[in-house]
Amino acid sequence: PLAALEDASLLRTQALINGEWVAGRNGASFPVHDPATGAHLADVASMGQAEVEAAIAAANNAFAVWRAKTAKERAAILLRWQQLLVKHADDLARIMTAEQGKPLAEARGEVIYGASFIDWFAEEGKRIYGETIPTTDPSKRYLVLKQPMGVCAAITPWNFPVAMITRKVAPALAAGCSVIIKPAEATPLSALAVAELAQRAGMPSGVLNVLTGDAEASVEIGRLLCASDVVRHLSFTGSTEVGRILMAQCAPTIKKLSLELGGNAPFIVFDDADLDSAVEGALASKYRNAGQTCVCANRFYVQEGVYEAFVEKLAAKVAGIKVGNGFEAGVNQGPLIDDQAVVKVETHVADALALGARLVAGGRRLTELGERFYEPTLLADASPQMLCSREETFGPVAPVFRFKTEAEVVQLANATEFGLASYFYSRDIGRIFRVGEVLEYGMVGINTGLISVAEVPFGGVKQSGLGREGSRHGIEDYVELKYLCLGDI
Ligand code: ADP
Repeated sequence: PLAALEDASLLRTQALINGEWVAGRNGASFPVHDPATGAHLADVASMGQAEVEAAIAAANNAFAVWRAKTAKERAAILLRWQQLLVKHADDLARIMTAEQGKPLAEARGEVIYGASFIDWFAEEGKRIYGETIPTTDPSKRYLVLKQPMGVCAAITPWNFPVAMITRKVAPALAAGCSVIIKPAEATPLSALAVAELAQRAGMPSGVLNVLTGDAEASVEIGRLLCASDVVRHLSFTGSTEVGRILMAQCAPTIKKLSLELGGNAPFIVFDDADLDSAVEGALASKYRNAGQTCVCANRFYVQEGVYEAFVEKLAAKVAGIKVGNGFEAGVNQGPLIDDQAVVKVETHVADALALGARLVAGGRRLTELGERFYEPTLLADASPQMLCSREETFGPVAPVFRFKTEAEVVQLANATEFGLASYFYSRDIGRIFRVGEVLEYGMVGINTGLISVAEVPFGGVKQSGLGREGSRHGIEDYVELKYLCLGDI
């Protein structure tokens, strides 16, 4: 699939350190595969300790240059970068579909969404206002500056290979920080193509670095980035499990952290909901990216009066989902990322069926398409003891639970250590406020299954993370407050 790129030079297979493309130590590399076909796509350089140290030193040197520019100068480079992403959206989408598997149209959508964080933060960077504080001592004046934090590290996942990078890197760069990215080992090609475009946009050497590595090298790179006292901030999107490891590794250097971790999103449909709209929302929230997003609905709670009708309507829509290779026209669900992901889905479905769930749609691996395709699946009569009620399935499986009262469903929805996204459907204005206020989640979609845009604060509470990405708040994670006290006035 990569032979069809309009601009073949977007296909980079080496790491980017200090503006130079760098081979692996002693030529070390790791293979990148197409999850749809298993085909070998490329070998990408695998970095070791010396390269991590070089990247940290380069980012540290570049920080001095980058922070000295005005926000407007930085914005000009960022905006050129954003425009290049949009210009090359088709090629970036091809690279993404090849290594990640999502349908081409969805991949293109992600590139545009990913690019939108860059222009948003390029503009926000111009509005990092400080403060003057009314003095309580006539001989003194109090001022607050907001300054870039320094060298930042970003460890990103494979489910959104472009957007999870831009969402972290754009606010950091706009604020005047330099960055080291460690992309997921499954999807390094998208990260490198995005970095190539940053180079073309005129990003000064060392401001944006990308360290690639296989799973084992990733652990080592992560450890070194966490241990460095030059690196001031770590932003991570991925599992809560790895988030905990990284947080612990950052403790010795008291590093600032932004964490976007796992979720277990409830999707509640009340009796008074617009049922067709709820079904559309459910479809978008659950099956997008084959269910592999941290904001995907994981548990559907439907009030008893509309339960059967909702299940029936959703089943009809699920039957219309076309599964296949993301490059094929009309396909709206691609493969899962790897064998482990398929096994997790199979385990959750088998567990639910053993505990009394009713299989309404799907329920099997589509081996005729390949190893990693799984049917969009709908399970009715789900119950709290099932694995899918506690763990994020991260696949195309919708378990539907029945509930009676508002109080009961709020309690069920909040009964998880996670608190990222939640959704509910109701046309009752009182209920909308009541439920919106008591759901213990960082984000609540009300009468919609799609909530993410660059302009709003994305993030979770409880064990779903720390900090917010996007919105005017997203840049705050990358600045430090400095208080200046002027005496002897
Ligand atoms: P996912 O569940 O999305 O695969 P992970 O949390 O396993 O998420 O991985 C997300 C990112 O974290 C990837 O870039 C991966 O290489 C990296 N990663 C995984 N384990 C570690 C670790 N122990 N230390 C540092 N980075 C890690």
